[in-house]
Order: sequence, then C-alpha cells, then structure tokens
Amino acid sequence: MKEKVNSIMAKKGLSFDDIIMVAVTKTVDVDRINEAIELGVTDIGENKVQEIQDKYQKINSNVKWHMIGHLQSNKVKYIIDKVCMIHSLDRMSLAEEIQKRAEEHNISVDVLIQVNIAEEDSKFGLKKEEVIPFIESIRDFSRIRVKGLMTIAPYVENPEEVRFVFRDLKNLFEKIKELNIPNIDMKYLSMGMTNDYEIALEEGANIVRIGTGIFGKRLYKGD
Ligand SMILES: *Cc1c(COP(=O)(O)O)cnc(C)c1O
Repeated sequence: MKEKVNSIMAKKGLSFDDIIMVAVTKTVDVDRINEAIELGVTDIGENKVQEIQDKYQKINSNVKWHMIGHLQSNKVKYIIDKVCMIHSLDRMSLAEEIQKRAEEHNISVDVLIQVNIAEEDSKFGLKKEEVIPFIESIRDFSRIRVKGLMTIAPYVENPEEVRFVFRDLKNLFEKIKELNIPNIDMKYLSMGMTNDYEIALEEGANIVRIGTGIFGKRLYKGD
C-alpha cells in the first residue's frame, strides 16, 4: 500500500511522508493494533467513543488517536483529552460542547468539518453550501482549531464514480483557504478509504482512513 501511495504522490512531487495514513482500528483487538504500531503505524482511527475508552489504556501511547465517526455531544467528555483530532464536527451543538470540555481541560482541539458532499441520507455531515457559514459561526471558539475538511464518499463498486465527491471537497477546501478566515487553517483534507483512497489521493487528499486494507475484513459479532 505504501508503494501505491508513493507512486500516486510522486506525480505531484510528493511521497508517502506527505500524507497521514490513519489505520482504522474499529473492531480490531488491542494486540493486533499494538502489532501494527510496532510495524510503523503512527495514527489510528476509531468511530465509536466506547471503543476508544475500552482500548485507550492498552494501546502503545506513542500513537495518535483520531475520532472519525459520528460524535454524540454527551460523549465528548470521554475522548476530548485522548484524541489528536476530531474528523466529524458537523453541528453547532457539538462545537459548543467541544469548546466547553476543552476549556475544562485547558486544551485546544483540532477538528475537521465533516461534509456530506453526495447528500446521502445515511451519512452525517454538512451540505456543501452550509460549510462556509458554519465555519464563520465557530471561528471565535477559542478552543477549537479548524484544520480542514472530511468526507465519506458513497460506497460504489467502481470508485471512479465518486471522483467528483473528492474533487468537490477539494474545491471547497481551496475556496475556504482563499477566504483567509481568522483562526481557520485549511491544512488537512481527510478523504479516501480502502476502496477509493487512490482516487482520493489523486484529487488532493492528505489524510486517508484505511481499515480493511490494513487489517483485513472486519468481523462483527454475529458474523
Ligand atoms: C470504517 C471507516 C473507514 C475505513 O473503512 P475501510 O473501508 O475499512 O478502509 C474510514 N472512515 C470512516 C469514517 C470509517 O467509519
């Protein structure tokens, strides 16, 4: 996978070291996660607060944790001091809760704004046209540092079909960058999963979130 990433990034004059590969560890047990860290994984992603709480103490503390899933406001307090970035800020009430809990811990929190480019009912995230007004409305939140955008593309057999999703998000990212909004630092574009990361990288992703491609098919209880 590293070689594939390198060959895509080489076309932009970049390499694997210019992106963050978040190893998505949902449903993966702590022994396998620690093994992956030994082998070089630096960043891990979970989509459930409960799983972060269950695993946190048992995982090699050098790794950085990313919250990549939908986040209920009442659970912010459990992870606020554990994660390096929340990829799923998508509403004012959540921003207010993050601000409040960050103040309690006297920390600042890096966040990405989740955007639902394809407007799928099944997915969370702001609509494209809601993003700039939302960012404007939270720019004075002293404890929240907006670092970029995140999206989850619809799952399709042929990822070429969702290239437009990544291109749209990249365009929005550049547009926001040009606005030079105080306190808003458009640095990261978190897009691309196992099935579509190559297309996402071609379209400008600098964070990809890979689960199956690293750990194999997830086994859920009952499978
Ligand atoms: C599970 C998950 C991923 C990783 O999915 P794979 O297809 O296994 O690579 C990425 N992002 C989010 C938000 C996820 O929930």
